[in-house]
Amino acid sequence: MAFLFETFTDWEKYCTTHNTNLAQSVIEYEMSEKDSTRDEILSGLATNYEVMKQAVDSGFTEDMTSRSGMINNGAKKVHTSQRTVLSPEFQQLVARALSAKEVNSCMGRVVAAPTAGASGIMPGVLYTLQELHGLPDDKMHEALLVAAGIALIIEHKSSLAGAVGGCQAETGSAAAMAAGAIVFCLVGTIQEIFNAVAITIQCMLGLVCDPVAGLVEVPCVVRNASAAAIANSSAQIALAGVDSVIPVDECVEAMGEIGESMENRYKETALGGLAVTTTGQKISNKVLIHDIDILPDQEG
Ligand code: SF4
Repeated sequence: MAFLFETFTDWEKYCTTHNTNLAQSVIEYEMSEKDSTRDEILSGLATNYEVMKQAVDSGFTEDMTSRSGMINNGAKKVHTSQRTVLSPEFQQLVARALSAKEVNSCMGRVVAAPTAGASGIMPGVLYTLQELHGLPDDKMHEALLVAAGIALIIEHKSSLAGAVGGCQAETGSAAAMAAGAIVFCLVGTIQEIFNAVAITIQCMLGLVCDPVAGLVEVPCVVRNASAAAIANSSAQIALAGVDSVIPVDECVEAMGEIGESMENRYKETALGGLAVTTTGQKISNKVLIHDIDILPDQEG
């Protein structure tokens, strides 16, 4: 069944031909690939979704200060801020995406969906969507299947790794997965789901990977929040019936082409962008000295 996931066009054709939907086609794929039963796959999804929600909650309740000091309980501040920009829901979307990603930066437990660097986007989006629309857990588990299908195709046609394709491949792919999941949950058509994916990728193209001091903290945490917002704006656009103009498969190819042409200093090497700003370099030197200080053979 691997052919199913080579392109979005093939995926849609498969669903139409077999009179099935995106989530069902992915669960069949998972069952065949992992030699697992439907119940085992669904149980794994339920566990993963719980871990996602727990990550959001622990970011609000536990101390989230990273060893470098760059992450310092930012999610809590947004969660409880009295200054609301758009709506309480938007505020919580941003806070939750920050929260789960801060947990990752502070070495807590997250679901890498699709990577640890982008681990705040799906939890922030799904948690908020479920609460706002009163969706059952089963629907959220199906949404995870749709998101997984989207990630499989992006990985096949382009990449999901910042070290290969820049941050567009990492937070961009997570945002695309989340946008597709939103439209799926809100009973969009396959075309609307794929439009949401395409529009999201269009918004995230070209984003470089430039983590300060090589740590997945700055700008990674705030990019999780912005990617969650873009996932929602793209889903809103797609659900209104606006066409992406450039088909989703071509958007993914564009992401691959841009990733290939990106210089290595923008691919998680910490040799370009924010990592080499004056402040970025100062932090990098400080982190390096701190790490040397705590090496075991330096302590005795
Ligand atoms: S900047 Fe790099 S390390 Fe940070 S989230 Fe983006 S791809 Fe991951």
